Amino acid sequence: MVNQSKHNLNQPFSVSQSSADTTPLELGLEEKWNAVLGNDASYNETFLYAVKTTGIFCRPSCKSRPPNPDNITYFDTAEQAESAGFRPCKRCKPTGQRLPDDEWIASVTDYIDHNYRKALTLELLAEICHGSPYHLHRTFRKLKQMTPVAYIQQQRIEKAKELLLSSDHPVSDIGVQVGLANTPYFITLFKKLTGHTPASFRKEQTIK
Ligand SMILES: [Zn+2]
Repeated sequence: MVNQSKHNLNQPFSVSQSSADTTPLELGLEEKWNAVLGNDASYNETFLYAVKTTGIFCRPSCKSRPPNPDNITYFDTAEQAESAGFRPCKRCKPTGQRLPDDEWIASVTDYIDHNYRKALTLELLAEICHGSPYHLHRTFRKLKQMTPVAYIQQQRIEKAKELLLSSDHPVSDIGVQVGLANTPYFITLFKKLTGHTPASFRKEQTIK
């Protein structure tokens, strides 16, 4: 005897989709999106979602800020998300394992190294890298012997040194290029970290 009427709620959706029949697929996506928006833990074993802009994947229940739905990819398993190049979220631990601190902090420094031109704050980094600002600050300092903000400034000044020597752009332009648009602040920070003003650094290094 075949029971065709009862829908088995314990089974994940496995309806085969034909391209002509898009209604069930759209319904599924909307359901998933609502689960993400509602941080619905009852979907945690059903699917995971990854965010293209951050490269991180999460459980539906993750309390991270709701992403733009256009940037989301859904996966059935953590393995699939990882093989597609996404990293597990530090906060909701979608692989069931805690991401080691060194890998987490490496993802933070990687983000800073590629985004030092932008306005970066501890809060923004924490949000992007899915941890609390407090935990990020503490873990970062433990592993890097400096605060995230100090690391950002160090990267900016290192990049400024390169630009001062490889271009003849005005000091103020170089400040803008490394995320320090406030020129007096850029000069003060540069001097604090290198012992020279940007202009004197450029002059001395060029004469040598
Ligand atoms: Zn998460």
